[in-house]
Amino acid sequence: RKALYAQMRDMPSCTTDGVDVSLNINAGLLIDVPHVIESGADGIGLYRTEIPFMVRSAMPDITDQTKLYNRIFEQAEGRPIVFRTLDVGGDKLLPYWEDMTEENPAMGWRSIRITLDRPAVLVHQLRALIRAGHDRDLYIMFPMIAEVAEFDQAKVLLDDQLRREAERGFVPRKVEVGAMLEVPALIWQAPALLKRVDFLSVGTNDLLQFMFAADRGNPRIEGRYDTLSPSVFAFMRQLVTLCDEKDVRLTICGEMAGRPLEAMALIGLGIKRLSMAPASIGPVKEMVRSMCKYEVERYVLTIMNNSTRSLRSRLKAFAIDHGVK
Ligand code: PEP
Ligand code: MG
Repeated sequence: RKALYAQMRDMPSCTTDGVDVSLNINAGLLIDVPHVIESGADGIGLYRTEIPFMVRSAMPDITDQTKLYNRIFEQAEGRPIVFRTLDVGGDKLLPYWEDMTEENPAMGWRSIRITLDRPAVLVHQLRALIRAGHDRDLYIMFPMIAEVAEFDQAKVLLDDQLRREAERGFVPRKVEVGAMLEVPALIWQAPALLKRVDFLSVGTNDLLQFMFAADRGNPRIEGRYDTLSPSVFAFMRQLVTLCDEKDVRLTICGEMAGRPLEAMALIGLGIKRLSMAPASIGPVKEMVRSMCKYEVERYVLTIMNNSTRSLRSRLKAFAIDHGVK
């Protein structure tokens, strides 16, 4: 299979009926970055900036961060990189940070909530990203946005830093700003949200945990709720429609995007951009090149509205019947 994936590296990620699907990688360490070239992905759809913060013994300063982001840009050889700002708390703790013991960390003081409460950390990171992004395309996204006001607050900090750094001669060629959709409440603020963002990225790892109110790390409920459920499909379909209307780029970057059957369903629902672990690019591309988007869409729309449980077995059967890999 490895040889097959290598062969497909430069082949287009396109369905049999001509729909292009952009495949991107998720990365967090510098050693992940070369995979974007090796796998033939379009870019880095999610760069988890907290990973370098987690493996250090102290908070990296602006200079260290600028150097690191510069190296990421260099290694990605011009492919677009979406930098997600610091997403700590919950399951991702910094050894040198204040004690964050909480009753319910997944819903606690984490991610954008921390960086808005401690803006110096975010400001330093944004400054480093702008400096490294000088004369390059800079894509920045804010994680765990639950209210549009949080996005606005973060965007004000970014705009301030863009002005400040411009005075020092650091000017990105282009800046695009997006939000991660991980908290269900955000979809009901779509009109306000979609006016503001250049793109949206769905973090299904967190989103599904909140949609089903089910801790995904808890073995007692593991297997009770499935990603391929009618409620997930209804959510995604609604989101696709909203984003298409406003011409906002939409990416799915949670783990489900890297599983071929899930990816097939997402593409059927109208998703055109996926971001996944580098090792998933080959299998997902093979699947994309074997599916007819029109047929999958028709099937998914038929079954999603008259089913009360996971659609996995029916989708599996569909894939086998239609020669989808
Ligand atoms: C997610 O929640 O789906 C996501 C991509 O972010 P992380 O896995 O880093 O929380
Ligand atoms: Mg997340």
